[in-house]
Amino acid sequence: METATTSAVPGNRNGRRSGPGANDNNLVFETSPGVEAITTFNQMGIKNDLLRGLYAYGFEKPSAIQQRAVLPIIKGRDVIAQAQSGTGKSSMIALTVCQMVETSSKEVQALILSPTRELASQTEKVILTLGDHINIQAHACVGGKSVVLILDESDEMLSRGFKDQIYDVYRYLPPEIQVVLISATLPHEILEMTGKFMTEPIRILVKRDELTLEGIKQFFVAVEKEEWKFDTLCDLYDTLTITQAVIFCNTKRKVDWLTEKMHSYNFTVSSMHGDMPQKERDTILQEFRSGTTRVLITTDVWARGLDVQQVSLVINYDLPNNRELYIHRIGRSGRFGRKGVAINFVRSDDVRILRDNSTQIDEMPMNVADLI
Ligand code: ADP
Ligand code: MG
Repeated sequence: METATTSAVPGNRNGRRSGPGANDNNLVFETSPGVEAITTFNQMGIKNDLLRGLYAYGFEKPSAIQQRAVLPIIKGRDVIAQAQSGTGKSSMIALTVCQMVETSSKEVQALILSPTRELASQTEKVILTLGDHINIQAHACVGGKSVVLILDESDEMLSRGFKDQIYDVYRYLPPEIQVVLISATLPHEILEMTGKFMTEPIRILVKRDELTLEGIKQFFVAVEKEEWKFDTLCDLYDTLTITQAVIFCNTKRKVDWLTEKMHSYNFTVSSMHGDMPQKERDTILQEFRSGTTRVLITTDVWARGLDVQQVSLVINYDLPNNRELYIHRIGRSGRFGRKGVAINFVRSDDVRILRDNSTQIDEMPMNVADLI
């Protein structure tokens, strides 16, 4: 099994930073009574061999959500935890599972469900890396290959597309199973249905208007017509390659079309979507993680969870059609307190969607490259 480091290892060019949203304790959480912020991993009672793994990986101090949610999870409580993108939620899944699993037993003790194969594999790697000294075994069961129930990106996992599959898993689990739900976005209708399968969950939530990270500057470019988007993107190409950039389109066909068109104008771009064979998806992702490729054109298969710290620019070539997706997409940049920039291509008839999605969004300035 691969234990190779992901792009998340310390020492890459961005280095580690703790900025607003990640470690900032002034963040407004709405928590169940009794939830306290515990500011060191040591005080949480994390076992020594796991602490070694955490420190080696560069996790010196728990982030704001980790300070609040780790303890109730490892105490065995059902937990609903929300925090902005890039603030260490998925890492917390890996960390708490490593703490809780009894490694002398060979039984499956935790089941983590994620909406894409790439995110499942990423989580597997983080578990194996953090748990390097505790002899943990983890396996990403992804299509085409071979108990705490944890749903990462849980609003997506409980949405129409996945709900039946989740129920099919859940009904085979013991009734006293501990359930943990994690996401940056937890809409009301999702919170409402948790009563059906969770027991007195501890809640750690973020207010709706606190959800966009301050570190991510959001801009729009008024392109007026669809046809003008392409030229705008070409004009931005140098900016895209300053570090790494993800460009979102709303359909797989559009991704293919845009990629081909960029290639025909001799721009270097790579692309990924759900109709590609998994092998190709894996290669594209690996090349992007390693920095071999710098510009990725993709669909919402990339909207959630995937963590490439060098991504500092997200382009919405097409605007997403809901606010949750918007938050997840722009959250591919600005990981763990880093700077990020999101640029939205807005046709005249899109202006209203954008207003609904975002709080603060200005016209793109000439010097946008200086912000990346
Ligand atoms: P989320 O799931 O909230 O979007 P991730 O768990 O993917 O966030 O973490 C985002 C980045 O922050 C990753 O690169 C991860 O390695 C890093 N990170 C997470 N927790 C810590 C920590 N306590 N200290 C330093 N870096 C961290
Ligand atoms: Mg995540």
